[in-house]
Amino acid sequence: MTKIEAQPGIMDIALYEGGKSKVEGVTNVVKLSSNENPFGPSPAAQEAVRRSVHELHRYPSTDHADLRAAIAEIHGLDADRIICGVGSDEIITFLCQAYVGPGTEVIHTEHGFAMYKISTLAAGGTPVEVAERERVTDVDAILEACTDKTRLVFIANPNNPTGTMIGMAEIERLAEGIPDQCLLVLDGAYAEYVEGYDGGAKLVEMRDNVVMTRTFSKLYGLGGLRIGWGYAPKAIIDVLNRLRGPFNLSNTALAAAEAAIRDIAYADKCRDENTRLRAILSEQLMEHGVPTDTSCANFVLARFASQSEAEACDLYLQKQGLIVRRVAGYNLPNCLRITVGDEPSVRRVAYCIGQFKAGER
Ligand SMILES: *Cc1c(COP(=O)(O)O)cnc(C)c1O
Repeated sequence: MTKIEAQPGIMDIALYEGGKSKVEGVTNVVKLSSNENPFGPSPAAQEAVRRSVHELHRYPSTDHADLRAAIAEIHGLDADRIICGVGSDEIITFLCQAYVGPGTEVIHTEHGFAMYKISTLAAGGTPVEVAERERVTDVDAILEACTDKTRLVFIANPNNPTGTMIGMAEIERLAEGIPDQCLLVLDGAYAEYVEGYDGGAKLVEMRDNVVMTRTFSKLYGLGGLRIGWGYAPKAIIDVLNRLRGPFNLSNTALAAAEAAIRDIAYADKCRDENTRLRAILSEQLMEHGVPTDTSCANFVLARFASQSEAEACDLYLQKQGLIVRRVAGYNLPNCLRITVGDEPSVRRVAYCIGQFKAGER
C-alpha cells in the first residue's frame, strides 16, 4: 500500500463538470450551457488582445495597477481594495486558503455554485449546505446554520443556476447577523446584468466582514482568458495578496479586461439585449408549459414535471444541436439551465422545447 496520500478533504472533491460543448454526430451546435455572452467580447478588447502579441516576451504587471485603476474608475471604487485573479474562481480559492482549514465550516446554499464546496474541501474545511426557499437564498436559514466554526458564507446574487436574487436589505441583515469570526462573500458574477445594482460594493465599504467577487467571464465575454476580481476591506486584501502568485494574470488578460471594462457602451448593449431576449425566452417557455423563475442573470432555469422529462428534453435538444445544462448536481434534477443566446438561438431553443412538449402529448 502506498503511503503517499492527499491531504484530508481532497479525495472528497467531486470533479467540476463544465457545460458540454459537443454532441457526437452533430455539427454546428449552439452552446447554451455555460452562460457565455453570445456576442463575444467588445471589439476594443479583441483589439487589445491582438496588440498584446507584441509584448508576449515581457512578464506582466505584478500589482495590476492599470486594471485596478480602470475598475475603480468605472465602478466608483477604491483601487486599493481591489484584487485581481485568474477568474473569480481564484479569488474564491484565495478566500478559502486564507480563512478555512480543518475544523472550520463554510456555508453555501442548496443550489449554490459548485466552486464554493470544492475550494472549501481543498482547504480542509467542511462545507455546510443550507436549504433555499423555493430556489431563493434564505437568510434566516443561513443565520441558523452559523456556528462558532463558520468562517465563510458564500452567496451568489443573482444566483447560478437559479437566476434569482435577494434585495440589499436582506443582504445587510445577513452581514449584520453572521458571527464575528465569519466573512460574507457576495459572488457578483451576474451583477452586471442587473441595472443599478452594485453587487454589494457599497456594503463592502461600510463593513469589515463583507467581500464581493466579480468576473469578466460573463457580461464581458472573456471567459476564455480567465479574469476576475474581488473587492474587500483593506485588511483582507492584504491577506489575499500574500497568497496570490506575482504573475497570476497575463499581459493579454490584463489588456483585454481593461479595454472591456472601459467599453461601457458595448457592455450596456449586451445587458439590454440579454434583458430583451431573456423575456422572450421565458415567455415562450411558459407558453409551452415550462415555467421558469424570474431570472436576473443571462440564463433561465426551466422547470419540467420530472427528472425523466428534463433528461428526455435535454436529449431531444442535443439531437437538434442545442446544448443546455443539466443541473441535477445542483439539487435541481427536474430542471435545465438555458443560457440566453442571440435571437436566433433563443427562438430556436424555445421552438424545439415546444416541439418536444407537443410530441410528448
Ligand atoms: C460563472 C461564475 C463565476 C465566474 O467564474 P470565473 O472563474 O470568473 O470564470 C463565479 N461564480 C458564479 C456563481 C458563476 O456562475
